[in-house]
Parts: sequence; C-alpha cells; structure tokens
Amino acid sequence: MKDHLLRLTSVDGTLRATAASTRDLIEELRRRHGTDPTATVALGRLATGTVLLGSLLKGKQRLALMLEGNGPLQKLHAETDAEGHVRATVKNPVSGLPPSESGFPVAQAIGKAGFLHVIKDLELKEPYQSMVQLYSSEVAEDLAYYLATSEQIPSSVALGVSLTPTGGVAAAGGFLIQALPGCPQERLQELEQHLAGLPPVTTLLAGGSTPGEILGQALEGIPLTHGTTLTPAFRCTCSMRQVTAMLRSLPPEERQELARRQEATEVSCEYCRQVYRFTPEELAGLAENDRDS
Ligand code: ZN
Repeated sequence: MKDHLLRLTSVDGTLRATAASTRDLIEELRRRHGTDPTATVALGRLATGTVLLGSLLKGKQRLALMLEGNGPLQKLHAETDAEGHVRATVKNPVSGLPPSESGFPVAQAIGKAGFLHVIKDLELKEPYQSMVQLYSSEVAEDLAYYLATSEQIPSSVALGVSLTPTGGVAAAGGFLIQALPGCPQERLQELEQHLAGLPPVTTLLAGGSTPGEILGQALEGIPLTHGTTLTPAFRCTCSMRQVTAMLRSLPPEERQELARRQEATEVSCEYCRQVYRFTPEELAGLAENDRDS
C-alpha cells in the first residue's frame, strides 16, 4: 500500500479524524539515519504523529515536534508542512535496546523523563511554541496528552510501526480523532468504548487496512464526510545555498582554517544526511567574496 493520508469530519461537525499509512516514509527515514530497530519505531511513531497533526495545517504553515528525553536516543525531531512533506532526525540513531517479548522498548529509548516540544509556524509574527512533560514516552499518549492539556482538544491518537525480521519497516501509520466543541458527551463515551475494542493500529496496517478502512472501523456508525487526501512523503528543505550561507557566517579565522586544509570540507544535513562538499579553493573563494563585500 502506498503512503496515503485521509482526513474527514463527522457530518454534524463535532468530530474530525485523520488516518495515514506511512511505511515508505518511515523506511526512508530508517535508511537515511541508519536507526536500529527500537530507534526506527520511536522515530517512525514521531514522524507519523507529525504527519497526522500536520494535516491540520494550511498554506505555508509548518509544524515541528521534538521529543527530548533522558534515554539513549536523546532528541528526536520531525517537521512537516501542509502538503505532507516530512523530514525527521534523531540525535543518537542507535538505542542499543533490542525488542523484548512485550515489544520495542520505545519509552526506555526515549527516556521516561523529558519534554515534548511543539512548534507551529502559522505565518503569524511569532511561532507558536508549547512544551509538556512526557506522559508515557510511548509517543501516541504523549501527543494526546499535549493536545488535551495545551490545545484543550480531547484527542485519541494511535501510532504504529512494525518491522520485518531484518529490521526494515513492514507497516506504519496511525490515526488521530478529535472531539470539537459541541461534541455530545455520550458520543465521546461511545467512541472511547469503541476505540478500546479496536485491534492495535499496527495489526490493522499489517493486515492491509487502508486509512479509509481504519477510520471506517474506528468511527463505525457515525455519518462521515467524504474528506480530503494527501500523500505523505520525505522531503528536506536543505540546499547548497543554505549550507554556503552557513559557512559564510562562520568567523573568518575558522573558515580560513578550513580553506588551508588539504582535504575537502564536508557538511552533512542532520535531517537527510545529504553531504555537501567544499574544496579548499571553494572555501577560499567564500573568503574572497567577503573582502569584496
Ligand atoms: Zn537536508
């Protein structure tokens, strides 16, 4: 199944729901960052959560989620735009924590103590920034906790990543269901009971359920709109121009030091691992430009 996102609302407008399949995206993150299995699941859950929350963005708005914990992964960061383009990174891609019978020790890898940061560029003067303590460090519950406390939107979040025996991504995806103002209390209770009886989202995805089928099952009996779709995909915003500007902003002594070396200087993007190479002559050229300006 190709990566796909579906967003819809209930006909009465009191619920909104998004589901996505993100296998290809998470596999690409795994390949680029060389994450070990537990790190793949942790980063995959965060990136999928970012895709789901990002489906509420409009125009040129952007969203970033960052998990900062006292576990071996240290810091995980994912960003998206309104079109579902995602990039993500993890400070330490090797958790060193193998799966146990109960699954991947994601909470241990992230760390039980720490914070979830949410940054939204809504094209206003200042970006929106919020921070909550980690709730369970399993990612989905942390996002639901943030949504309930910071945004005051009761939300159900499910995120799932399953791996092949060799550590590749077999299936990934999730759903986000939110109660909007005016949602009757009985409907919420009914929904909660219904969701509690739903198989884990990883099982649904591994069984080949599409985002539409997952939402159909999760919201059974509730009249829904047709909804909108998009295709989540990896895309980094780095460029040669940005990296050149970064090198230009180094103190002149530091840059001249690099230019005096025999070998080329390599700058690697932390999000996509693309390597930008600069020969000593090119670096010296940047310095020349400085003197001109
Ligand atoms: Zn990049």
